Amino acid sequence: MTYREALNYGENILSEAGIADAATDSRILLFEALGITREEYYQDPWEEISDEKEESFRILIGKRAQRIPLQYMLGKASFMGLTFKVDSNVLIPRMDTEILVLEAQKRLFPGNRVLDMCTGSGCILISLLKGESTLEGVGSDISKQAILVARENAVSNEVKASWVTGNMFEKTDGCFDMIVSNPPYIRSKDMGSLMPEIRDFEPPNALDGGEDGLSFYRILAKDGKGHLKEGGTIAMEIGADQGDDVYGIFEDEGYKDIEIVMDLAGHDRVVLARRGNEK
Ligand code: GLN
Repeated sequence: MTYREALNYGENILSEAGIADAATDSRILLFEALGITREEYYQDPWEEISDEKEESFRILIGKRAQRIPLQYMLGKASFMGLTFKVDSNVLIPRMDTEILVLEAQKRLFPGNRVLDMCTGSGCILISLLKGESTLEGVGSDISKQAILVARENAVSNEVKASWVTGNMFEKTDGCFDMIVSNPPYIRSKDMGSLMPEIRDFEPPNALDGGEDGLSFYRILAKDGKGHLKEGGTIAMEIGADQGDDVYGIFEDEGYKDIEIVMDLAGHDRVVLARRGNEK
């Protein structure tokens, strides 16, 4: 089998399995199995593959056909131009979440303290701290295993941060200039209709936002006040249809300057709010 034939083989199996980006996934997995770069591939797409490498490619394609997410198979994901280790204990970073990072960056100043609630792989906090040595960051998550992954990601991306394991604010001390969060926000009844990659492989406790999907925003609004400096910003990712509800939750808790920011697809994706003068 040549490189080119292997690519076609992989693409066919993956598209039969219902995978949208079958060609891309086949290509990435071929490069992974062969240990080659895209450039090496294009130098000679008709090169013969050894039996041993062909077998490892077939195994990878078989796993992906079972809808195991590509990033879990590779053990890594890209986010904000950085590479993060991922495993089934953490949500795979999504491109939409980069909007949250960009909005948070606009409102951070040298010396600020930032808290990332529900940090998972740590990708949001680490992206904010990268190259900004005056910022101080704390990442919190209920999952001990997630915090282990986040710690590794901080080391590999050469960022210093503190990490706590706790249920929402339970283990968080002190006051911050900014809180960022991508909390679980899927309605419990919608969990079953997520894509198989998400439904069957990503950690449910990173996705399930309770009956109306809003449970964690209520906690963020109520308990966040005690950990935000006056005028400090809370910046959160939201589901595409949750803008008005999350706006209302923060308005009722006395926050001001509430804004909703859309993602590139034109869906509501980020809510920002500032703590008023009462706690
Ligand atoms: N955006 C994620 C999804 O569609 C959900 C992330 C979350 O619940 N925070 O699967």
